Amino acid sequence: MKYCANCGNAVEDDATYCSRCGAPCGRVKKPSTLKVIAEVFMVLGCISSGWALIPLCWTIPMTVKYFKSVKEGRDVSTGFKVCSLIFVNFIAGILMLVGDDIED
Ligand SMILES: [Zn+2]
Repeated sequence: MKYCANCGNAVEDDATYCSRCGAPCGRVKKPSTLKVIAEVFMVLGCISSGWALIPLCWTIPMTVKYFKSVKEGRDVSTGFKVCSLIFVNFIAGILMLVGDDIED
């Protein structure tokens, strides 16, 4: 015999709910370590997908701007190149940075 934590009523050991007040009195399962780890990864997944989506909002405009600059023969700023290198594409950024020296 155990007692309801809510009202103190004596309840059967295998009872899930108190017969008097209806409060759950079954054994509260402690979440397993794996579930906790999964939760952490779910949160990380949300953060990483958020991280992927937010830059996407300006990597596309940056790419479009670069395409326009190339088409119109204009040069982009070094800041733009570095930002492209870090945030859009590493190889593209390197090519932008060294491209000016190689071209006539
Ligand atoms: Zn109760």
